Amino acid sequence: TKKTLIIGAGGVGNVVAFKCAMNADTFGEITLASRTLSKCDDIAANVKKKTGVEIKTAQVDADSVPELIELINRTGANIVINVALPYQDLTIMDACLECQVDYLDTANYEHPDTASFEYKEQWARDAEYRKSNIMALLGSGFDPGVTNVFCAYAQKHYFDEIHTIDILDCNAGDHGYPFATNFNPEINLREVSAKGRYWQKDDNGKGTWIETEPMEIKQVWDYPEIGPKDSYLLYHEEMESLVKHIKGLKRIRFFMTFGESYLMHMKALENVGMLSIEPVEHKGQKIVPIEFLKTLLPDPASLGPRTKGKTNIGIFAKGVKDGKEKSVYIYQVSNHEKCYEEVLSQAVSYTTGVPAMIGAKLMLDGIWEGKGVFNMEQFDPDPFMVELNKQGLPWKVMELDADEDRRVDA
Ligand code: NDP
Repeated sequence: TKKTLIIGAGGVGNVVAFKCAMNADTFGEITLASRTLSKCDDIAANVKKKTGVEIKTAQVDADSVPELIELINRTGANIVINVALPYQDLTIMDACLECQVDYLDTANYEHPDTASFEYKEQWARDAEYRKSNIMALLGSGFDPGVTNVFCAYAQKHYFDEIHTIDILDCNAGDHGYPFATNFNPEINLREVSAKGRYWQKDDNGKGTWIETEPMEIKQVWDYPEIGPKDSYLLYHEEMESLVKHIKGLKRIRFFMTFGESYLMHMKALENVGMLSIEPVEHKGQKIVPIEFLKTLLPDPASLGPRTKGKTNIGIFAKGVKDGKEKSVYIYQVSNHEKCYEEVLSQAVSYTTGVPAMIGAKLMLDGIWEGKGVFNMEQFDPDPFMVELNKQGLPWKVMELDADEDRRVDA
């Protein structure tokens, strides 16, 4: 039987553990490891109670390559699913190389000190992965992840050439707090307070990144099953790989919804320096403001039982098919309460954890196969789209005329 190692026991780790257990034929013997063993044990107990499947647990510091190597060898894992934090991507990738085991993650490497994130250092491992005959699948969450697969699916079935893509991420969930983040606050707030960026080809056909002030560009998009929501342009990592892999692309942007209360709190926190990653001296002790803020905010895991409402994430693509211009909107709607009922996590963790499990399933089943380091859109989207429907993330396609979209402020 196969052996699966999951690293990280946060919101997403919880969903991955549940979903792997629910697909035990594929995942075989499952071990959940993380920094805090008790969190793994709690999840394992819930998985056992709800699914009857027994999973093992282990403690590991994923910043340490030797500890990881020891753990991977001890479990005999065929695949490592990394759902710890983006800071651990490189150590886990290197440990997988050492042990010659396949690797998967949901977020690209982020340097803890510089707040910059990009695929460069992970892509740089491609040659070594090839040489070792193993595969790394990067960004197998929802966005990145399913959004990349949606783009590949649009490319395969609806267009000869895609010219523009808007990725549209709406969370209309309500947790009842004036301010809280749905996933790791450091990562969430750093993403949102950063400058925006999108990619566009100039008149000479050269692709360039265009920087915007944080929250400078807004559009009101009418999300099916939710309604119109303010959506702001952000930089998001899947664009970095999509500009390489979607042929004919002329522009790609990413929008995410934010409510007024969220933005007001964030602005105030930023203005007083609470989002800073620079350590400050406080009563003889050094503290990092955003780390301290994380201590004050509700634990994202605690939002699960109290979050109501829906999410809708999708891609809106425009391009040409058989000489005719057209548009396609592919999206997925999840319901926070339903997700919680099924696996004890709200929709943000659910929509990330399910695709992580699906990516790993396609790798273990030999359906997505390759040697080296890959992004999602490099593989055939069809089997992934089939699994999404089966595993709790049903999607829809809306075909529109070339000049039609769902903007309500245009
Ligand atoms: P959480 O903060 O809830 O969980 C992170 C887990 O990783 C915790 O269990 C934490 O342990 C563990 N961890 C952190 N550092 C280490 C370490 N050095 N060694 C071992 N374990 C460690 O995060 P989420 O579950 O919300 O997110 C998990 C990942 O998913 C992140 O990389 C995030 O960026 C990504 N993500 C991707 C999305 C997508 O759509 N692609 C969307 C949302 C998230 P401890 O409990 O001890 O702190």
